[in-house]
Amino acid sequence: MKSSKQKRSEIDAKRRKAEEWRRLQAQRAAEQCRLREYKLALARGEVAVVTSELAPSNSYSTPDFVLRGTYRPEPFVCKDCGVAEVWTPLRQKWWYETAKGDVFTMAVRCRACRTKERARKSAARRVHLDGLARKKPSAT
Ligand SMILES: [Zn+2]
Repeated sequence: MKSSKQKRSEIDAKRRKAEEWRRLQAQRAAEQCRLREYKLALARGEVAVVTSELAPSNSYSTPDFVLRGTYRPEPFVCKDCGVAEVWTPLRQKWWYETAKGDVFTMAVRCRACRTKERARKSAARRVHLDGLARKKPSAT
C-alpha cells in the first residue's frame, strides 16, 4: 500500500513529465514552422545569410535578416535625390559578407548618387591631403 505522500509525488512527477513533453512539442513545431518559412523564402528568391561571414557586432540586438536567415529585397528612398530603389538580396549579401559592412547599416543612396558621393569624397580627400602637404613642406 502506497502512502498518500508517495501517491502525490508520483502524480507530480507524471504532471511534470507531461508539461515537459508539451513544451518540447511546441518547440519542435516552432522549429519546423521556421524551417518551412526559410525554405519558402529561398523559393521566393531570397538569399541565405552565412552568419559566420558577417562582421562582428557588439550589439545586444540581432538584425532581422539574421533572425530570418535570408536577405530579402529592401525598398528604400535615396536620401539625396529621393528616388525609390530596391536593395537586392545579392547586393546585401555582398555588403554584409564580402565588404563586412556593419550589420545595422542599410542602403541609403541610389546607384547614381553613390557614384557621385564617392567622387565627392575622394575629391575632398585630395584637397585635404594637398593642404596638409602644403602646410608641412619639411615633413619629408
Ligand atoms: Zn539618389
